[in-house]
Amino acid sequence: MQNIRKRLSILFAASSIGAILLITLFVNITINNKFDEYMKHIQNRRYERITDYFQELYKLEGSFKASSGRELIHEAHMSNYCLTLYDENKNIIWGMDPSSLSLDDMGSDRGVYTTKTYDILVEEKTVGYVEIGQYSSVLLTEEDESFKAAINSSIILSGLMTLVIVIGISIYFSRQFSAPIKEAVNMSVNLSKGNFNQSSKIKSNIEELESLINSTNLLAEKLKYQEELRRRLVTDIFHEIRTPLNVLQNNLEAMIDGIYPISEERLSYLNDEVIRFGKLLNNLNTLKEFEEESIKLDFQELKLDELVAEVCRDYYPLARDKEIELSWYIAPNSDYTVLGDKDKLKQVFINLLSNGIKFSSSGSIIDIKIFSEEKEIVVEVKDKGIGIAKEDIPFIFERLYRVDKSRQEIEGSGIGLSIVKSILELHFFKIEVNSEMDQGTIFTIHIPRISP
Ligand code: ADP
Repeated sequence: MQNIRKRLSILFAASSIGAILLITLFVNITINNKFDEYMKHIQNRRYERITDYFQELYKLEGSFKASSGRELIHEAHMSNYCLTLYDENKNIIWGMDPSSLSLDDMGSDRGVYTTKTYDILVEEKTVGYVEIGQYSSVLLTEEDESFKAAINSSIILSGLMTLVIVIGISIYFSRQFSAPIKEAVNMSVNLSKGNFNQSSKIKSNIEELESLINSTNLLAEKLKYQEELRRRLVTDIFHEIRTPLNVLQNNLEAMIDGIYPISEERLSYLNDEVIRFGKLLNNLNTLKEFEEESIKLDFQELKLDELVAEVCRDYYPLARDKEIELSWYIAPNSDYTVLGDKDKLKQVFINLLSNGIKFSSSGSIIDIKIFSEEKEIVVEVKDKGIGIAKEDIPFIFERLYRVDKSRQEIEGSGIGLSIVKSILELHFFKIEVNSEMDQGTIFTIHIPRISP
């Protein structure tokens, strides 16, 4: 099997060689033809000149003698053609012997000897004939031949040079194709081996290759993130289950050993732990149903402002008990009708609001705001609580994720936000979070407007 670089190089080179050969052949044939045409033209002019010469000679001498025009023999020898002069009755006056033409000039391949006879006309009367014979259709001198050969060899040379350049270029360009593909292949192999810690810096100005590298990088990032989540999930599940079990085990052992008396108070404490454990399992089950989308949503038109106000009123006493100021603002002159499942959306605001109260200390403020933008309704839940660290933000919507284990004094299961996200996704609503440590957190929900 060939690699892509080799295949592309061969493809480029083969098509270029084909193109160059064709061009060379075409240029060569054209130049040779034109050159031959040009030489024929010159030859015909020469023959015209010879007949003209004999005409003038006849006019001057009144008849042809055995010596008439013999001075042309020398030039004829030099230019490799034979002259024969005839009188008006086609009797030979004088003639050259074709075998006397120099062999050296023509090489061993003389070709076929052909002759052409031209009339010598004086006052529109044929006074004689001149026959011109030669061994090839075009008479080429040694300089003509070497000129032709020089042109041919320079065409071939330029063809060869172009070939070398084209091969160089095709190797360079095929590298541009093969390098990113090779990189993507290597990355995929590494990813399949579970090595997610990698990204490619290779850049390509070919759109498809650039997006191949980008998507492979994205894939590596996503797999890395999933792997991180999986690890955290295992640790978190272990922790969430282990803690109540430990409490139960230790207490029961202490009771069996008689260290703790079996009192109603202690039993009810243990029961609380069992209930908490049961709640965790229930929550996980609810989340599973959301994630599998097996929960049926009861979609109806509802007034979001009324729903939010209702949740705020319910939670107002809890906030007040913790000395937290809870206020809500509904921007006037707008319609907040949305399509959704009332109970599930209520759950979203309950989870956000109870988190806000949970993660704020007394004296803090929680603001809830609803307002309209051109294409959407926006709900903001803003607190001035403990905030979330930047590195934790990408994970807070994941199952069982709880920031910083030291905060586990604050009760929770790490499921509330996962349920929020699942409910909103089923509604096609979006949620974003902005938070700063010790400054507070803002959750913003974007709800597309129902078109009128
Ligand atoms: P939990 O049951 O622990 O509240 P959630 O899924 O609701 O679980 O939240 C996940 C984690 O996100 C919490 O443990 C907490 O660390 C962080 N978090 C959520 N809401 C807030 C908030 N308003 N302020 C600070 N941290 C928050």
